[in-house]
Amino acid sequence: MDRTLQDRATGARDYHVHSDFSDGVLAVDALVARLAAHGVQEWALTDHDTVDGLPAATQASAAHGLRLLPGVELSCTFNAHTVHVVGLAIDPSSAPLQRVLQRLDAQRQSRAEQIAQRLSATGVAEAWAHTRTVAGHHRLTRTHFARMLVAQGYVRDMKTAFHRYLADGKSAAVKSAWVPLEEAVAVIHAAGGIAVLAHPLRYARTHARRRRTVAAFAEGGGDAIELSTAAQAPSGAQDQLARYAAERGLFGSLGSDFHDPAQHWIRLGELPPLPSQVRPIWQHPRWPHSAEAAASAPSTQVAHAW
Ligand code: AMP
Ligand code: MN
Ligand code: MN
Ligand code: MN
Repeated sequence: MDRTLQDRATGARDYHVHSDFSDGVLAVDALVARLAAHGVQEWALTDHDTVDGLPAATQASAAHGLRLLPGVELSCTFNAHTVHVVGLAIDPSSAPLQRVLQRLDAQRQSRAEQIAQRLSATGVAEAWAHTRTVAGHHRLTRTHFARMLVAQGYVRDMKTAFHRYLADGKSAAVKSAWVPLEEAVAVIHAAGGIAVLAHPLRYARTHARRRRTVAAFAEGGGDAIELSTAAQAPSGAQDQLARYAAERGLFGSLGSDFHDPAQHWIRLGELPPLPSQVRPIWQHPRWPHSAEAAASAPSTQVAHAW
């Protein structure tokens, strides 16, 4: 394995990426070509509540010489709020995982029907049919509704679509009780994977909530949290989050949450370094190391490399 993958360098890695199997715009082949062109060597496909893109991702990754970790991003509920938990290095065929994915699929479907009804009630014509066309599949997310609202000319951009229609409390918002946080962690563990709290600063905006969220995730059995992301965050908030994670013994993960080449603030292959207080996720005991990496870098050496 390339030696850049053995130290703290983050550029060659990205463990949070979406394809058009959920709400990414790129098909798996185009996505992998793009990752490769930006120097990413190891990545995880983490579509929302589905593992259906993994076979194609495995093939495309092999063709481009990239290493793929099978992943998923589960929609969870904690304290009546939505929280996202990424599962990395999962066995996608795990029966408990499959059962949860089926449940989420049904929930998504009925929530999407309700969102479409609410949009229709506010005067958006053929919300359901247009959104299905935009998505090209049935696993509808709010992102697809937002894209439809932009495409049909109701709003000028995605941000406004959420602000006006889809964000919590807005006219087409529909609350859903997703998988309880602890159950999501348990299911990821049952599938042999590592449970990562995704983009923690997105739901924990105050110091108190940040601390509570990290504590609850750790107490619920969580393994790692994303501490290197593409989004700009106040450095004070980042430092504090890293401290809370270190206190709880959580590993640090990294991911761009790439959905769309139009997200100009995401520069693939250029994630910031992980804070020095936390151990990188690739030192987690369940991290799958290739035989090649194990041969060239004994684990004792790797443990002190950072
Ligand atoms: P859902 O899981 O159906 O509730 O959709 C959530 C997805 O919507 C997230 O994964 C993001 O991709 C997207 N999203 C949420 N908020 C925003 C926003 N303000 N602007 C653009 N995309 C957003
Ligand atoms: Mn998304
Ligand atoms: Mn997310
Ligand atoms: Mn995501």
